[in-house]
Amino acid sequence: MKKTIKVLCVSDEVDLFVYSSAIRERFGDIDLILSAGDLPAEYLGFISTMLNRPIVSVAGNHDAQDRALDGPIYHYHENADSIPGRTILPGRTSFSIRKEAGLTILGLPGCKWYNGGNNQYTDLWMSLRLLRMMPRLLLRRLFLGRGVDIVLAHAPPKGIQDAPDPCHQGFSAYRWLIKYCSPSLFIHGHVHLYDSQLQRTTKVGDTQVINVFGHQVINIELEDHR
Ligand SMILES: [Zn+2]
Repeated sequence: MKKTIKVLCVSDEVDLFVYSSAIRERFGDIDLILSAGDLPAEYLGFISTMLNRPIVSVAGNHDAQDRALDGPIYHYHENADSIPGRTILPGRTSFSIRKEAGLTILGLPGCKWYNGGNNQYTDLWMSLRLLRMMPRLLLRRLFLGRGVDIVLAHAPPKGIQDAPDPCHQGFSAYRWLIKYCSPSLFIHGHVHLYDSQLQRTTKVGDTQVINVFGHQVINIELEDHR
């Protein structure tokens, strides 16, 4: 028996189709909201409040550093703990795996280092960070079939929907994360798609890599016994 989880993903740009008084009519059946970063807190707050659904968000390079220090996945709201049904993911020392709406989500903030600004990391740093998580992810893959259901990152994997300039190059560490962890979705933003002809989705093995710049609604089939 399968059920469909409907996920509203947003990233990088305030999308007026979402930031609208008609949001409930357009997205009222959404189960979960994911933000891939570089968005104002007011916007994420608006979406989460209007739809009354949990939101999971990673920090982008244009988000304040203090949010990233609170954890790789953070909630937009200062006192999120006191708001029922909302999510905050602390975790100063390790990247977090979180379960929401029946889906396991690994959050990876930031982009590749290019000028020393907020939430920028070298490929080596990201590789070491992910290596530390690998035993746990591999065990999950062995017993559950997938390391996680969704990787929610700000930056793309290297060579997949990234760009050649230093700021928008993807992490090579994300390539082997996809290979060994086999998430069903790898969601990212960071690379702006002002041309609708540009590629949004790439299949890598069993993983769909999706650039959710603006907004995207994704339906995820889930076994109901979980
Ligand atoms: Zn960015």
